[in-house]
Amino acid sequence: MRIVFIASEIVSFAKTGGLADVCGTLPLELEALGHELMIIMPHYRVVGNKAFFNDRASLSTMGRGIKVFFIENKDFFDRPQLYGDSAKDYPDNLDRFTFFCREALQLLKDIGDPVDIIHCHDWQTGLIPVLLKDPLANDPFFIRTKTVFTVHNLAYQGLFSMEAYPKLGVDIKLFNDHQLEFYDKVNLMKAGIVFSDYVTTVSPQYAREIQTKEWGCGLEGVLQTKRSCLAGILNGLDYRIWDPEQDEHIDPPYSSQDRLAKKIHKEKLQKIFGLPQISDIPVFGFVGRLCYQKGIDLIESSIEGLMQRPIQMVFLGVGDDKYQKLLKHLSRRYPHQFSALVKDNEDISHQIYAGADFFLMPSVYEPCGLAQMIALRYGTIPIVSAVGGLIDTVADVSSHRKQGNGFVLSSYSVSGLLEAVDRAVGAYSKKEKFSELIVHAMAYRFTWKESAKHYIEVYEQCRS
Ligand code: ADP
Repeated sequence: MRIVFIASEIVSFAKTGGLADVCGTLPLELEALGHELMIIMPHYRVVGNKAFFNDRASLSTMGRGIKVFFIENKDFFDRPQLYGDSAKDYPDNLDRFTFFCREALQLLKDIGDPVDIIHCHDWQTGLIPVLLKDPLANDPFFIRTKTVFTVHNLAYQGLFSMEAYPKLGVDIKLFNDHQLEFYDKVNLMKAGIVFSDYVTTVSPQYAREIQTKEWGCGLEGVLQTKRSCLAGILNGLDYRIWDPEQDEHIDPPYSSQDRLAKKIHKEKLQKIFGLPQISDIPVFGFVGRLCYQKGIDLIESSIEGLMQRPIQMVFLGVGDDKYQKLLKHLSRRYPHQFSALVKDNEDISHQIYAGADFFLMPSVYEPCGLAQMIALRYGTIPIVSAVGGLIDTVADVSSHRKQGNGFVLSSYSVSGLLEAVDRAVGAYSKKEKFSELIVHAMAYRFTWKESAKHYIEVYEQCRS
């Protein structure tokens, strides 16, 4: 099959979250399964200079022979950030991504060979399935092309005022409750869901959750209508990058058989975070975007209880100003137990995965989550809330006995979090059993190969 990924971010060219990891890794696995892949993304400043393909796009490659095209427009994309600064989104995001979607389709025509599947990702590419069903419906170039739309995070929908609708350049008739309209606004996520041939999301549990009122962010009805062509496919982890035996960000390396180095990493971690270097105190790590989704509010509500326990906590993240301030405040208030670094730092993130004993991820919701999978690979036991991809990847040690690889909050509450932390601290004190748990956790694999096979099934279903 000839497959093109169209997405707003791809590792290693530009990344703000898990979307980039998926769009940079899945194509490699699909290529390994024998398919022909291309990728199209915007030419942001962070991408740097690339060779020109034509006046519409420049070009790079990845994998064995995947062409990566970067749509050019200095006014729209040559900016410090991808979507906006920490205070707010760029005000012309609708113009930017409408332009991107239209140019991406035009570029496919420039390239010349029709593709079987256009795989779109999140609201930034939601207009593409619409364009293919409306103005381009009879274009012979796209006649055999099917669209798959992946929802990476339903909470970010690409909502714009209805006055902006004409900028999309599609028929006004589509601005209705069943198609592009969402409570008097333009909704580009809804557009992608409604108009694509197949919708996927990034874990089986999240696929179920987004069809409910509680988690559907207002789109549950639309998603229920699509349920015969809606699948939850768990993201994989790139184990070539996330491997404590070969990780260049940590020194020394370690394996599940020889974990002595984990002690050294714990000391280094305590040093980086300026915490007392006590070897037998359990260290809880957090790496993530500082936003509502990641459960920082629950940590704030639980902080007094947490700090009464014999534990240390280290946080790495950037995001909403209020959470950045909160973490800095807690670091000052509990200098011997709590320390946060408010920055984006790959090295330190690896040090946390390697050096912490537990990984804290009490997300309010979590479409898939990569961080808990990474933590498992590094023998850092995850403590997670019972939502989305966290349920699909972490099984509580008490309810799953031998299969258990972490701790799942019994309820999303202060008592739920403290109870899970207490169980973790208890497990930590039983050295031999805890050691078995670490070995077990490190053996877990969520491979892209398995996920890629599921995506191929979806693509084939679209074409049948
Ligand atoms: P999301 O996609 O919701 O941001 P995921 O858990 O799926 O969350 O992926 C987050 C990825 O970003 C992980 O690889 C994590 O290590 C990385 N990450 C998040 N914040 C930081 C940070 N401040 N510094 C370095 N890496 C980070």
